[in-house]
Amino acid sequence: MSMQRPHIVLIHGAWQGSWAFAAWQPMLEAAGWQVHAVDLPGNDRSPERRADATLAGYTAHVCALLAALDAPAVVLGHSGGGLTASQVAETLPDRVRALVYLAGMMLPTGVSFGDVIAQCRAADADFHYAGIVPHLAWDADGTTSRVPPAAAREIFLHDCPPEAAQTAAARLCPQPDTGRDMRNTLSPARFGRVPRVYVECLQDRSVTLPLQRRMQALTPGAHRISLDCGHVPQLACPQALTDALLPLRAMPSRRPAETMTMSMTTPGPTTLPAQGLPPTPEQIRRHLRRAQQVAERAVTLGHHPFGAILVGPDQETVLLEQCNIDTVNHAESTLARVAATNFPPDYLWGCTLYTTVEPCCMCAGTAYWANIGRVVFGMTEHALLQYTGSHAENPTMSVPSRYVFDHCQKAVELIGPVPEMEAEIAAAQRRFWAGR
Ligand SMILES: [Zn+2]
Repeated sequence: MSMQRPHIVLIHGAWQGSWAFAAWQPMLEAAGWQVHAVDLPGNDRSPERRADATLAGYTAHVCALLAALDAPAVVLGHSGGGLTASQVAETLPDRVRALVYLAGMMLPTGVSFGDVIAQCRAADADFHYAGIVPHLAWDADGTTSRVPPAAAREIFLHDCPPEAAQTAAARLCPQPDTGRDMRNTLSPARFGRVPRVYVECLQDRSVTLPLQRRMQALTPGAHRISLDCGHVPQLACPQALTDALLPLRAMPSRRPAETMTMSMTTPGPTTLPAQGLPPTPEQIRRHLRRAQQVAERAVTLGHHPFGAILVGPDQETVLLEQCNIDTVNHAESTLARVAATNFPPDYLWGCTLYTTVEPCCMCAGTAYWANIGRVVFGMTEHALLQYTGSHAENPTMSVPSRYVFDHCQKAVELIGPVPEMEAEIAAAQRRFWAGR
């Protein structure tokens, strides 16, 4: 890998320009980045290019920059800038080393941010959301909106230093709605192979935490970093944000598997390097499907329909497969014990355990003690309970594995449930337990 300073491209959200990153930029440069903050067309700096204030226009603008750089770049999308970041990765996947969503809109094909809000409302009667929309001031024909400074300070900038908040709120520009109400078109073969990081902001009043979590569930596979701040971490806690992104400097440009393991030994303040590159959505689906085949084999061998596999740090090599055996030798706990017997703990921290159904607390605990760095499951334990009930052979517990891992001293990454795989896994459980 060259010693050249890595590139990071910063894409601002609605009502903003490159100035949204101006105060943060020197800190990134001090951390070794070459920083490129863009001004999307039709926004702040170039209102006359209004016709280009679309997803296509924004994407073309950023792709032209990426094509001109001498190496692939990390691409960061703040807030609504996430939509453009995704589409850029779809267009030029080989020019994007990694995507970072900063309280960003990380959306699957055809799904709008409004759709995500509607999904949260449908799923939870107690979900309340207003965000910035009720405060917006619209021009006469209703195609361009502005954010009143007081609303910006309250919704976007509430935890930023007062002077910086004042300046940023006053600096917000008119936003054509064609550059805000956008939908991505993405494919597993292009967007799907770019590693992603989601920086979630716990105190965000605009893209609130339930919405950020919903988006992470809808497009699984992003490595999660949590910051205790509002919607604008680059003003509220710029040093913490800079530190959180440090491991990405060492992320290799896309190369075959052997260079990916380099990231395992790179020191950094978060667990990202040790756990290696995150799996892509395509890899997650493929490995869960293989775990489901192992679960089906368990049934033919006279056991319950649960299966687990262990995948190496390259996100491709399947190291172990394990069927369920019995009530104290579940697929995942057995696999974790075999793994701990056969591989060193440092190596296992870069590995991923895939299991069809969310691990029970015994299995989550065993994976933790085996030092397996990442766990991916297809369907929740709560959903399994519907099928097994209090069946004597499998009186399912009700302890989310998130609870177990949140009470551990090492940050095991947990991914799941995976909505695209849930129906397939649930069907197998329903078939088995109905006839039991
Ligand atoms: Zn278990």
